Amino acid sequence: MSRSLASYAKLNLFLHVTGKRPDGYHDLLSLMTKIRLADIMTFTFQGNGVNVTCDHPLVPEDETNLAHRAAVLFLSSSRQHPKKHSLQGVTIDIQKQIPVGGGLGGGSSNAATVLSTLNARCRYPFSRNQLMEMGTCLGADVPFFLYGGPALATGAGETLSRVSPELFPRHVVVCDPGIAVSTARVFQNHDFCLTFSKEYTIQTSSNILSKGQDLDIRPYVHNDLEATTFRLYPEVRVARDEIAQLLQRPVFMSGSGGSLFALFTDEKKAALGYERLLAHWAGKKKRLLRTALLTR
Ligand code: ATP
Repeated sequence: MSRSLASYAKLNLFLHVTGKRPDGYHDLLSLMTKIRLADIMTFTFQGNGVNVTCDHPLVPEDETNLAHRAAVLFLSSSRQHPKKHSLQGVTIDIQKQIPVGGGLGGGSSNAATVLSTLNARCRYPFSRNQLMEMGTCLGADVPFFLYGGPALATGAGETLSRVSPELFPRHVVVCDPGIAVSTARVFQNHDFCLTFSKEYTIQTSSNILSKGQDLDIRPYVHNDLEATTFRLYPEVRVARDEIAQLLQRPVFMSGSGGSLFALFTDEKKAALGYERLLAHWAGKKKRLLRTALLTR
């Protein structure tokens, strides 16, 4: 028997890099939310072991695939669990819709979907917190995808606190400029001197979260990684400038890039902006998406 599920993408509405740890990881402060863009993951529970297939040429199908790693981790953890269960193996097929290396967390989302789906299949041997702990071993963004609604992420991104969805505009136009950005390369090359700005202090962004329900967060949207990504992948900056010009509004990068987004409170304006970009880019390799933020 097979089961197909949506594995949603995320946006970093703001992202501050707050420090570097001795272990090489960076500390972050980021406001994260899911969007209505998803990979389709089909689970078939039969046979032994873990098998993963994916229709995207840049995504490995071997044991390095994050979905594969998540399934192996779940199966080995559940073998040590006192509750008996009958899951021996799983085949997972991923239909990629989320741009790969796009800063939209596709791999982490897939890993989270695997953990929660296998947990449900085994009748919930693990609590959500236990799944989130497992997720941390796979990637700093994985716990966010298990968390639920929009969240303020600190630590390497794995420490989460709830944020009211009323804080931000719901409509978004996302552009994938077609450049796969390596998150590791961006962090390795991150230069704190490039990002220091009095205008965007940590204080500013953490304060807005307690100011009230109907605050428009657009003035606070910001990404410290942009400067580094733009230096390493100048095409992303070119795309950002072009979109900002066409939409006549600020355009930001999600995560380490290269996906870019613009926020709208008004759905009609989002639709018009999307049409304008579509007309401009007809036939080019960029991918556009008009979507909404997910509030749960
Ligand atoms: P993030 O924003 O979390 O840094 P990203 O969205 O930029 O991530 P992904 O698309 O999640 O990047 O994946 C980037 C790398 O991970 C690619 O090199 C890809 O080959 C590898 N990868 C492994 N498993 C997966 C998966 N299930 N889906 C997507 N990429 C995967």
